[in-house]
Amino acid sequence: MMEKSSSEFDRRFLDVEENLKVIRSNIAAAALKSGRQPQDITMLAATKTVPVEVINHGIALGIDHIGENKVQELCEKYESYDLAQCELQFIGHLQTNKVKNIIGKVSMIQSVDSVRLANEISRLSLSKGVTTDILIEVNIGNEPNKSGVLPTELYDLIEQTALLPSLRIRGLMAIPPAEAKMAETQGYFSKMSQYFIDIKGKKIDNVTMDYLSMGMSSDYSQAILSGANMVRIGSALFGPRIYN
Ligand SMILES: *Cc1c(COP(=O)(O)O)cnc(C)c1O
Repeated sequence: MMEKSSSEFDRRFLDVEENLKVIRSNIAAAALKSGRQPQDITMLAATKTVPVEVINHGIALGIDHIGENKVQELCEKYESYDLAQCELQFIGHLQTNKVKNIIGKVSMIQSVDSVRLANEISRLSLSKGVTTDILIEVNIGNEPNKSGVLPTELYDLIEQTALLPSLRIRGLMAIPPAEAKMAETQGYFSKMSQYFIDIKGKKIDNVTMDYLSMGMSSDYSQAILSGANMVRIGSALFGPRIYN
């Protein structure tokens, strides 16, 4: 049994290197096609369920942003990540009572969707003497029971959150409806891009629209062509997720 699992690891190491090459070249092509440079696009590796050995191998290959989406998993892996050259971010749904477990550990929280959550991030960051960067997550498909602020409430949330100490709004994040067709997804990406540009133009204190985080394994090129400058990639990089 040991032997089998260690050779599975070997294969995964090789795959990550090859997958990373393909993804980087696709990102570069989409960047150039949309009038930007490859280095203008940040690729964040979505590392949920991925063993730390595999993540650290990816970091050794140059991955410089990783993101976890569960607080408990992040905390369990935290001491083992090789973070000297890599930023750790939080990208999943965050409960207010768990904020305390990640403040000071992550460089950015991509999934802020309420004033209540922003308040708690601000309060705990202030008490720890750190500033936490956040993205506002938008429920761009207006899906019931999905994380993210509704588009109609986006501007209010930004105005209120911008007033809080010890956090900075650095941009927007979205996950379009999973079952959407290509053309629909395109519409969602375009809307996000429009909000991003609009908010940037308002020049609100404490709000810099540096990151538009959208696009995952199946649609990152399309997202970049629509204006994304951060993509979050899991399965295309690490292979299908294995849930135990
Ligand atoms: C898992 C995850 C991703 C990556 O998904 P893939 O389709 O595997 O690329 C991106 N963003 C978030 C928030 C995730 O949880």
